[in-house]
Amino acid sequence: MRLTLVLIVLLVSTSTVGMVNADSIETMGGGIYHKDNPLVCIMEPNPELQERFYNELLILTYDSVMLWQNNLKSYSGGNWYMMMELISFEKHYDKLVYDFPRCNIFIEFSKENNGQHIDNIDALGYAQIDFSKSKHQWAYVMIYTEAIEKETKISFCIGCSNQQEQETKHEAKLLEMDSNAIKKVLIHELGHSLGIGHYVQDLKTDNNVESIMYPNFNPFSNKNMINELPYADLEVLRQIYTSDGFGGLHGLNQSEIPMEDILFGIIENMSEMCSSCTVVIGDE
Ligand SMILES: [Zn+2]
Repeated sequence: MRLTLVLIVLLVSTSTVGMVNADSIETMGGGIYHKDNPLVCIMEPNPELQERFYNELLILTYDSVMLWQNNLKSYSGGNWYMMMELISFEKHYDKLVYDFPRCNIFIEFSKENNGQHIDNIDALGYAQIDFSKSKHQWAYVMIYTEAIEKETKISFCIGCSNQQEQETKHEAKLLEMDSNAIKKVLIHELGHSLGIGHYVQDLKTDNNVESIMYPNFNPFSNKNMINELPYADLEVLRQIYTSDGFGGLHGLNQSEIPMEDILFGIIENMSEMCSSCTVVIGDE
């Protein structure tokens, strides 16, 4: 519970100095929440990716689903259980999501994004969601395992005029992402598939809260390791589903939750979860 107290102290001191946090986190909108415990269907990729899949990607997928499940459970209590099933390549390669009505969250891997699935070729992954029909509500997550590293290369020109002395070249290389980066994309897209939208920054202030739902990140940074999910993201799901988790009929119509409400919700939830803790809000 040490972490809890540290967090509360931090929140109190933030509000004491009177900083207003105008950031927010979007939700996927009204009606997009799982009415029951979702079945996560992990699609075996095509043969060229299968070696990496069985050595690494399958475990990363399992870990990412378990991270959401276990962090939500210890954060708010409740039933956040997600079942998982592996579907072989032969069973799905020529099929559509509609052919798997039991699956609520699909996870699939592809090597590179050439725009073969979506228009944005810079996307490291994407989530497609259809909750419009009550019989089969699903979120489909695609993760790319390779990304373009944008590199600036400077080559010197010998014997040119002064103005042309150096020439800057931008070169793009397609590189395999490491497991930390792929796991980060997985966790982010799973966040969408559970109902969270993106973190919206108020660019006038600089008091960003930790979240996995920022829309951009550098896949080649060495700071991509995630061991615990940020409280803000867990709190958004608690507000969408309430503390009892999946299975209740709650959902949120509001499309954006202000950061102030998220931070207040964290304090409220923490004081409920820890009856022996004293939580002081706004006062020393
Ligand atoms: Zn996203």
